[in-house]
Amino acid sequence: MATFSEPFARAADLHMRVPVPGRRSSSFGLRRIFNGQSRNPHSGMDIAAPTGTAVTSPLPARVIDIGDYFFNGGTVWLDHGGGLLTMYCHLSQVDCQVGDELKTGQAFCKVGATGRVTGPHLHWGVMLNRTMVDPALFID
Ligand SMILES: [Zn+2]
Repeated sequence: MATFSEPFARAADLHMRVPVPGRRSSSFGLRRIFNGQSRNPHSGMDIAAPTGTAVTSPLPARVIDIGDYFFNGGTVWLDHGGGLLTMYCHLSQVDCQVGDELKTGQAFCKVGATGRVTGPHLHWGVMLNRTMVDPALFID
């Protein structure tokens, strides 16, 4: 996913709200074994939360893509401007449409267990200038 729009904020000022309350893993970059084969390193943060928990935008955003994928399940991509994108996976419900503008803290989808997962959680990915980065860098 490559897009670059005018920044809503300078990168140095970026501080994100956590999109759902819950226990956060710090597993970014860990290589996972799936069916005995090594897969790509984990490229985000997993936040445990019950199915149906509202997911809120961590920054002002525009919804740029919505999909349903074998591994990621229900997925939404947000564009925060300045080359900063975030992705949300395994969603049970999507409450937005491509092109919607979101305010910080505005709910736009719900936690679920769609795709290849063992239980409900939010997989949260952050992409900066086309590179997946650790979401933990942007939150307290
Ligand atoms: Zn994950």
